[in-house]
Amino acid sequence: MKAIMVRRFGGPEVLTLEEVPVPRPSAGEVLVRVSAAGVNPYDTYLRSGAYPLKPSLPYTPGSDGAGVVEAVGEGVGKVRAGDRVYTAKTLTGAYAQYALARESQVWPLPASLSFSQGAGVWVPYGTACHALRHWSRTRAGETVLVHGASGGVGTAAVQFARSMGLRVLATAGTPEGRDLAAAQGADTVFDHRESGYERKILEATGGKGVDVVLEMLANVNLARDAKLLAADGRVIVIGSRGETSLDPRDLMARRGTVSGFTLWAVTPAEEAEIHATLQSGLADGTLRPVVGRELPLAEAPRAHRMVLEPGSRGKLVLLT
Ligand code: NAP
Repeated sequence: MKAIMVRRFGGPEVLTLEEVPVPRPSAGEVLVRVSAAGVNPYDTYLRSGAYPLKPSLPYTPGSDGAGVVEAVGEGVGKVRAGDRVYTAKTLTGAYAQYALARESQVWPLPASLSFSQGAGVWVPYGTACHALRHWSRTRAGETVLVHGASGGVGTAAVQFARSMGLRVLATAGTPEGRDLAAAQGADTVFDHRESGYERKILEATGGKGVDVVLEMLANVNLARDAKLLAADGRVIVIGSRGETSLDPRDLMARRGTVSGFTLWAVTPAEEAEIHATLQSGLADGTLRPVVGRELPLAEAPRAHRMVLEPGSRGKLVLLT
């Protein structure tokens, strides 16, 4: 089979397309014939070798794949050969024509969703769900700002927030990104590249501020976020690519908090709740992954450059 291999850490050029053996499922494992693999910014951090977490070399990247079950190991009862599925983490990597996963990492993909959409489920929707349901403890009627609503996590967060009865303010850096955020259900969308846009956000809340900020680029926005909070407001750091500073008095004045998480550290109970929520939302159409760009597997290096560039339009996926 064809698979992307990383044999040394480095830039996108270390992603090479190679011919490798198809893995065989042992007891409790599922072999998925992958049609599409989601590209997440996290995949680029791991590949660079500069992230605290380092996979052992060589490895195939990718936690989010979608396709059809090819074979199952002994004792697997959740899925069987021929089932459409998506993965939430894998054992052998999703940037490949076949991926091995534990039974617990494989989830049914409704017929209404394409494989490319399936490749956009786990990291984006798991993160959005964890942020809104567990971390921020958001309540219906509150106002949430999805700060970076045009990408994978942002589009998912807008759909989730909408379904939870929140007022949704959103930002994006291009007209296409803003249209996309609005189409997912954002009430008002702002341009995070426009100077003074945060004043417009405050005005949209009548000066009260927002209850929750879901922040995709904290190193750029955190100090501003603290000034945008309503009383008892919460900034949830989802993404950050460097250090930053803020004036703690902005938090004190508002009884505000800043907290963050990574999806990799959710508890088993939280993970079970996330999966149950995703399964029901995907089945009833509340959650509809937006696929912006599809590239062939061989173009994984280009995909790793693109996913870090501005101008997001939903999910970027690789087709095997
Ligand atoms: P993505 O699809 O590449 O989207 C990136 C988003 O960030 C786009 O909406 C982009 O908007 C926005 N952005 C760019 N510049 C911004 C700015 N100055 N202010 C606000 N937003 C800005 O990436 P993703 O998958 O949605 O992930 C978003 C971030 O969350 C990444 O940093 C990722 O590493 C992180 N993440 C964390 C977790 C976790 O477990 N904590 C899980 C998943 C992702 P425009 O392109 O329109 O400018």
